[in-house]
Amino acid sequence: MSWESTVLYYQTINEGIKQRLGGLHSGQILLASVDFDPIEKMQAAGDWAGAARVLADAASRLDKAGADAILICTNTMHKVAPEVEAAISVPLLHIADATGEALVAKGCKKVALLGTAFTMEQAFYKDRLVDKFALEVLVPNDADRQIVHEVIYHELCLGQIVSASRDQYLRIIDSLVADGAEVVILGCTEIGMLVQAEDTSATLLDTTHVHAERAVEFLLS
Ligand code: GLU
Repeated sequence: MSWESTVLYYQTINEGIKQRLGGLHSGQILLASVDFDPIEKMQAAGDWAGAARVLADAASRLDKAGADAILICTNTMHKVAPEVEAAISVPLLHIADATGEALVAKGCKKVALLGTAFTMEQAFYKDRLVDKFALEVLVPNDADRQIVHEVIYHELCLGQIVSASRDQYLRIIDSLVADGAEVVILGCTEIGMLVQAEDTSATLLDTTHVHAERAVEFLLS
């Protein structure tokens, strides 16, 4: 989606393969890199059917080109995961499943979710964590959700790292931990550009990382 996080996926998958296989090994990847501007406008306008058509078409072309599995490299657009799955004959490696499984493996019960307003407020992502993985999912309050959302679209998706925004994120992370979150999910694939484990004593789970690792496991299987 935003190419800023596509870079991270590409790098993480190839590094994972290199780490496991060594030498000159790298991941075999087909990439459909979309123009994010019209998709962001569709998201903002609530035209999810239009956005679903773009992604289903891209996924179908990857399927026809020989992909053995598909990843949608964003949390938000998993809102249209059912439409994408309906357009392909290979598995979709769902980001919320990779996330849920990593949290269960850590023995987590109560977690917090940072992401776009769509991801934090709508059912498609949170309910999957609750229903499939029996997790309790906290989100920031209204004002803080707005801050988190705006930083994603106005800074991170444009490749801008602003230290005042990092401070805001760290404040919000601290308040979620004070409310009982054992882990804070970086549930937007660009947040890891702004906040990393060394910035906070809170335990973070970066969805870009767990999703890309899922791709590595799939490639090696
Ligand atoms: N990449 C972000 C996410 O993980 C938001 C931008 C997008 O819609 O892709 O939700």
